[in-house]
Amino acid sequence: MQDIKELSLKALEDKLLSWGSPKYHARGIFNWIYQKGVNEFSRMSNLPVALRETLAGEFKVTSLHPADTQKSSDGTTKFLFELADKNLVEAVNIPMAKRLPAGKTPARASTITGCISSQVGCKFACSFCASGLKGFKRNLSVGEILDEVLYLKNNVSSGQFTHLVFMGTGEPLDNYDNVLKAIRIINSPDAFNIGARRITISTCGVIPGIKKLAQEDLQVELSISLHAAGDKLRSQLMPVNKKYPLAALIKCCQEYIARTNRQITFEYILIKGVNAEAAAAQDLARLLKDLRLAKVNLIPANSVAESKIFPPDSAQIDFFKRYLLKAGLNVTLRRERGQDINAACGQLRLKYEKSQN
Ligand code: SAH
Repeated sequence: MQDIKELSLKALEDKLLSWGSPKYHARGIFNWIYQKGVNEFSRMSNLPVALRETLAGEFKVTSLHPADTQKSSDGTTKFLFELADKNLVEAVNIPMAKRLPAGKTPARASTITGCISSQVGCKFACSFCASGLKGFKRNLSVGEILDEVLYLKNNVSSGQFTHLVFMGTGEPLDNYDNVLKAIRIINSPDAFNIGARRITISTCGVIPGIKKLAQEDLQVELSISLHAAGDKLRSQLMPVNKKYPLAALIKCCQEYIARTNRQITFEYILIKGVNAEAAAAQDLARLLKDLRLAKVNLIPANSVAESKIFPPDSAQIDFFKRYLLKAGLNVTLRRERGQDINAACGQLRLKYEKSQN
């Protein structure tokens, strides 16, 4: 039986019409599922009883439950979900200090950014990332991606669930169709109503996916995991660079910016002894200097014991940031979140699987 969350609003309307029901009930069904979190058709009390029965005969409404939950002292909460086929995926709620107008005190207000997975495991095997350590299993379905969002939204400890990033396990542009279908539902006013500008797709640099995304009529944020500004080092850290090397990637970014007029954020994990030296900062400044709308987001690496990855000391991080600022780049430094709960990609799954073995 199909999960009803696989259907776009339009597909659901068409289904209802094919049954002789008015299509406006589709919005009502979206509302029950995504806004009220109801997953039994029998409880959708404003739908005709006959329609509820037809729906129940044709569709199921799945939901996720965590096999493990970890809460960090900074409020970051990580959930490990067991899917119907027993595969495991991770998603995280990350509280952010609310951006308030000058003069207003932040009080207790905070917004929550949900971080979700797009695949079980990952094909891309970046050397610093725990997600690829056990290889690739399968794509997540549209319904499974939406189930992650539903769970995160309904399980915030405080604050408002406002932003979403595809920075969990997997490569979103390698599961393009399902991710885009899910985003259109996440975006829908009748479902989660999260604005496209508040949704970030993060990619390791899958050029055909970036090109396709540039053609969509969607204002989503695009992040590129760069992590090195020379082909030799980047290919060592990220094997995807052998297929899509830097010159082609930057050209593709230039075209993306020209077509969409949207900024691209380049994620750069600072790894001690690997890519955090002055020469690396120089390479990075040179690589990005001609991109009209680019931002660099520096992230001190989360330690991954399995891969011997460690962050540089704070003086080196400061130096790196100041170098880029002086070179005229737009730079931010992301605070490490959830360090004490293994919040880096794939880490909770690895730990859980180890404890089960
Ligand atoms: N495949 C996509 C999305 C998943 S990774 C991508 O590559 O962008 C999401 C982000 O977490 C990426 O920027 C990734 O490089 C980063 N990441 C992976 N391992 C990390 C680690 N050990 N420390 C800090 N960030 C890490």
